[in-house]
Amino acid sequence: MTATRVLVLNSGSSSVKYQLLDMRGGARLAVGLVERIGEETSRLVHTPLLGDAGGKRERTAPIADHAAALKAVAEELAADGLGLDSPRLAAIGHRVVHGGLRFTEPTVIDEEVLAEVERLVPLAPLHNPANITGIRTAQALRPDLPQVAVFDTAFHTTMPESAARYAIDTETADRHLIRRYGFHGTSHAYVARETARLLGKDPEDVNVIVLHLGNGASASAVAGGRCVDTSMGLTPLEGLVMGTRSGDIDPAVTFHLMRVAGMSTDDIDVLLNKKSGLVGLCGDNDMREIRRRIDAGDERAQLAFDIYIHRLKKYIGAYYAVLGRVDAIAFTAGVGENAAPVREAAVSGLEELGLALDSGLNAERSDGARLVSTPYARVAVAVVPTDEELEIARQTFALVSENALG
Ligand code: AMP
Repeated sequence: MTATRVLVLNSGSSSVKYQLLDMRGGARLAVGLVERIGEETSRLVHTPLLGDAGGKRERTAPIADHAAALKAVAEELAADGLGLDSPRLAAIGHRVVHGGLRFTEPTVIDEEVLAEVERLVPLAPLHNPANITGIRTAQALRPDLPQVAVFDTAFHTTMPESAARYAIDTETADRHLIRRYGFHGTSHAYVARETARLLGKDPEDVNVIVLHLGNGASASAVAGGRCVDTSMGLTPLEGLVMGTRSGDIDPAVTFHLMRVAGMSTDDIDVLLNKKSGLVGLCGDNDMREIRRRIDAGDERAQLAFDIYIHRLKKYIGAYYAVLGRVDAIAFTAGVGENAAPVREAAVSGLEELGLALDSGLNAERSDGARLVSTPYARVAVAVVPTDEELEIARQTFALVSENALG
């Protein structure tokens, strides 16, 4: 029996998201989520997607830790005839947030790789420990199976030093691993490739600006399939205005807050990561709610929207200059895929750059990748639904198949 299934795990500090895919056609067999691990109110939501497997199932008993979570997931999958002991399972692919400079590719996990991911914990103190726990738990469940790490930072490791380095003292930067790493890399890689496919071209022949606009948001400049710049930096705080993060600010704002407001490092961390961005500007971080308020004449919501768009435009312009020639701009993630007014505002006034939206196409809703620019526009504008799990599964399966061949 050929092993063609891949389980994708995205482990957070108190949650695990999972998908089981069959790589013969990329079909999803089951998807699910365990949340509030370690609390009384834990919840597992499991959805089998095979033919007549039935609908969504939910468990609400407390789940003590990640091991218990994965055991519960394995039971749910087994109930659908998709047990993790199946010889059809080829590998488990893990999303790992920070791979530093070392991990430029998906990597089969061994003790040495885990030690390196551990060493990078200071750069991703919330994410990497959770990812490591997820990996260890999955290893205990199937010690014989290849486990692959797919890093959020990997796609950005092709950035030239001129884009990746901050203009600070080099020795200090090197000693403390301070540089721009970028995040959402799996999404940027997937969307850049799908955009080329939509244009009927090879990724090597296409320059794309990818705008990943979700609750977290980042832009990237992709030249011939390789990332040459991205808006997130040492941490996911830099760059665009996000749901709750400020994006770019003068770093001296932090010293100023310490001096004049007596705020601690942790206070400022919370302020900039959780209480800024759209939520800081207008109290809401959901673009649907912001649009509803704008339609009702709310000026704070309008100003928040305008600041969000202004920043987005600045990055579009900057990445035009970085790339020299742009073939397409691709919008993705929750806001990018769904919020037609954001796409319209972001490219309006940029006709001189070859951008022109077809407002009818832009307003239409659709699940698939599509073009929303006018046919005569020099630069295509695309809406490309992102699929990080499929990309992790593809990269995982490609790596284990390659290793199996030899
Ligand atoms: P993500 O992080 O990619 O899941 O994106 C989540 C964000 O997408 C939410 O916070 C909303 O701001 C936005 N979003 C989701 N659906 C819509 C929609 N139909 N219209 C506008 N924004 C949306």
